[in-house]
Amino acid sequence: MDLMSEKNILEGQYCNSLTAYKRRKASVVNIGSKPMGGDYPIRVQSMTTVDTMDTQAVVEETIRMVDAGCEYVRITAPSKKEAENLAVIKEELLKRGYDVPLVADIHFTPNAAEVAAKIVEKVRINPGNYADKKRFEQIDYTEEEYQAELERIKSRFAPLVEICKAHGTAMRIGTNHGSLSDRIMSRYGDTPQGMVESALEFLRICDEMDYHDVVLSMKASNTRIMVQAYRLLVQRLDEEGLRPYPLHLGVTEAGDGEDGRIKSAVGIGTLLEDGLGDTVRVSLTEAPEAEAPVARKLIDRYNDREGHEAIPSISESPVNPYVYQRRVTKEVGAFGDHQVPRVIADFSEVKAEMVFKDLKAISHHYLPELDKWKMGDLGADYIYSGSNPIGFMLPNGLKELLDYACWEKQQDQEHQYPVFTLEEVQGEVKFHAELNFLRIALKDWNQEIAAIVKKQPMVLILETSNTHAMVEQRRLIFQLIQDGIEAPVVIRHAYPEMEEEDLQVHASTDVGGLLIDGLGDGVMLSPLFKQEDKAAKLQRLTTYNQIAFGVLQAARTRMTKTEYISCPSCGRTLFDLQETTAMIRKRTDHLKGVKIGIMGCIVNGPGEMADADYGYVGSGVGKITLYRGQEVVKRNVPSEHAVDELISIIKEDDNWFEAES
Ligand code: SF4
Repeated sequence: MDLMSEKNILEGQYCNSLTAYKRRKASVVNIGSKPMGGDYPIRVQSMTTVDTMDTQAVVEETIRMVDAGCEYVRITAPSKKEAENLAVIKEELLKRGYDVPLVADIHFTPNAAEVAAKIVEKVRINPGNYADKKRFEQIDYTEEEYQAELERIKSRFAPLVEICKAHGTAMRIGTNHGSLSDRIMSRYGDTPQGMVESALEFLRICDEMDYHDVVLSMKASNTRIMVQAYRLLVQRLDEEGLRPYPLHLGVTEAGDGEDGRIKSAVGIGTLLEDGLGDTVRVSLTEAPEAEAPVARKLIDRYNDREGHEAIPSISESPVNPYVYQRRVTKEVGAFGDHQVPRVIADFSEVKAEMVFKDLKAISHHYLPELDKWKMGDLGADYIYSGSNPIGFMLPNGLKELLDYACWEKQQDQEHQYPVFTLEEVQGEVKFHAELNFLRIALKDWNQEIAAIVKKQPMVLILETSNTHAMVEQRRLIFQLIQDGIEAPVVIRHAYPEMEEEDLQVHASTDVGGLLIDGLGDGVMLSPLFKQEDKAAKLQRLTTYNQIAFGVLQAARTRMTKTEYISCPSCGRTLFDLQETTAMIRKRTDHLKGVKIGIMGCIVNGPGEMADADYGYVGSGVGKITLYRGQEVVKRNVPSEHAVDELISIIKEDDNWFEAES
């Protein structure tokens, strides 16, 4: 088996620097009027959702997408007739003054690809299904048989490459975690290595044929797998001496609303932080024009990033960037070791008298009729009240952190925990016997502090004012690993007032980029208030709390909600995805931790739901096929009964419970 040994993987680099922001210099690919890669800006793109044969609808949708910031527009071409209609769409767009490069999306149909490649600026092929039909067979190939398979692929694929060369058409080899070929699955499984090899099989053919207008993508709905696959791809291109082809970044089936934005930003943002990525597509189960503004927000964070405050360099990562492993920590309080990452709500700047109902902001609800507290799924674990102690006994699931100067004056020091500054911790102080916190930034770390941290039950709250924030905090965690420090860490970021969508993007990138690599035992998102009243401050704290839990879930470190793996829909969609997703969500969103895949069609196979517990997939007009994992449970259920049937399958598995009022 041609798997790389871990040693080789670790020796390979996947980015220019682990400390200084520098965008990876990709080769330039010409795509109509908008080249990609090199020093060209990171491009924004999206995909239409209407039937490709409905020219007027495609044109109108494309115009809305371009006006919203899309620089390339992808349109599905399931067969030759749709591919041919791309010419009509193109002409109509040009008549309306829109020369946006178009991309044909191809699955299974080389003949459609060969037509489209003569019309549009770029063709996307899926290496998992361009030359292969999925039969879900495990095949043990001999080396000879494997070579014969590669020859077969070449004979199917080479004609398209010739057409692209002749017409100056670019191509994306777009690997999808859920639709790898049986050949790849048999040899590598649905791993990042398998995803990379799937693209390389096709890329090597392009290279041999001296065709280089190629863009690559490694999409998955699992953010960890997606990040690892892109990193590995960069490393493998380098190792094989192939060109540094541009990267198209995306998380598939990210869902909608807050969850969709957070999941996309965790995956895409993590890679952008290390300078990877030449074009971004954010996939949301929403109107396609909603995607470009989110992509733009992700990208714009890097416009001036190169001038960031210097971070001491490091030659080798002490963590394996291609395999998830949580950093080894000892358990301190409810932090670290096997504990889920904790959420600390920062109330230190509320500066107003608190009453029971105020804790509703962080999902701790007081029920006066019963004189009891009830914690919601998004109940914060700790509350940091700075120097303004909460004046009443907190519910059981919530503990209080206070600044040391305030804590030392408290009567009940046992049930509250001190937060030290750097100066305090080095002086004559009293420590809590079980749990202490220290606020620290990279520049302050030294061996004297390390000695104190080693001696006390301490959790570090990592702070930063560097614009390259995630990377600076990562550098500090690398230092902790090198210094043998096993104290858990809380990732803290303070954000000024900004739009909710901006906050989702920023926090997901800043925090998610660490959680993806197993670095981080807690999250603390601190709002910087202007002159807001208490109600407005509590409202913002609710948002921050939701985002903190959202990022933990998107990075797959703590599941507190139902997860919807829903596709963005496209011209192949067989039902109204947005409406259906909303309907399924309404009935199931109390099923914490259950993952439901909602797919417009089965084009990518049930493998698309590699990560889902249940699947709801369009299989014909008005027909839905229901899955348990990747196994079909009910075929062609009339859509009006499909949600009820889905719920009965969940019930059969004992995974159902009624929502509490
Ligand atoms: S799963 Fe959704 S986005 Fe993917 S091809 Fe089918 S309908 Fe289109």
